[in-house]
Amino acid sequence: MSEITESTPESGLEASREASREAATDMATEVSREAATEAATDTAKVLPLLVAPDPLLRKRSEPVAAVDDAVRQLMHNLVKTMHAEGGIGLAAPQAGIHRRVIVVDVEAEDGGTGYPLRLANPELKQVSADKVGHSEGCLSVPELTAEIFRSAEVTVAYLDESGTAQEITASGLFAACLQHEIDHLNGVLFFDHLGAVRREMIIRRLKKRKRELEGKSESSAGTGGKESARAGAPLL
Ligand SMILES: [Zn+2]
Repeated sequence: MSEITESTPESGLEASREASREAATDMATEVSREAATEAATDTAKVLPLLVAPDPLLRKRSEPVAAVDDAVRQLMHNLVKTMHAEGGIGLAAPQAGIHRRVIVVDVEAEDGGTGYPLRLANPELKQVSADKVGHSEGCLSVPELTAEIFRSAEVTVAYLDESGTAQEITASGLFAACLQHEIDHLNGVLFFDHLGAVRREMIIRRLKKRKRELEGKSESSAGTGGKESARAGAPLL
């Protein structure tokens, strides 16, 4: 009897020791996971972006075979570049890397966490028939914005940064951004969705801008992204 009464508090103590040890281990794992993310982010580079009418923006990107360290590094670089340029989305081919990798940093309407989102091999699984217009800019199409009508709601399947298959359903600007970035993987730019007249006008302006920049020193050339950001349209 005394053994039982003695052993009960002890095993209770043992159990709580066990629990606190587990909690400590969890915390350590969490800290090291965070540290790893930070370390990877620290090594992230801001990538130079292609500007339309660069023909490389029209090339189709290839799927990644697996989400390995190189793909994760690409994801980190894209996030850093997107933030540095004031964008809310970026696709690898905009940096001249023709892999099917995109990043998106739009707050979900349900206030979801885990953003910026990093997606490898994103695929539109479902698109709503109803369309909605959003004013769109693009880090690769400086100083020009247009209202583009896209599916109001989409479901996208993708591999996350750990290579796990995921699916996300998005609406609003988030849905527009996902469609815009997936377009980039197929060599499609936002103004391709416009009627012929407006599309031609944008292409003429881009060509003119390119000629003007070629006449100036390289230092004055840039994506012009910040200027469009000031104009109010989100940069995707
Ligand atoms: Zn874009």
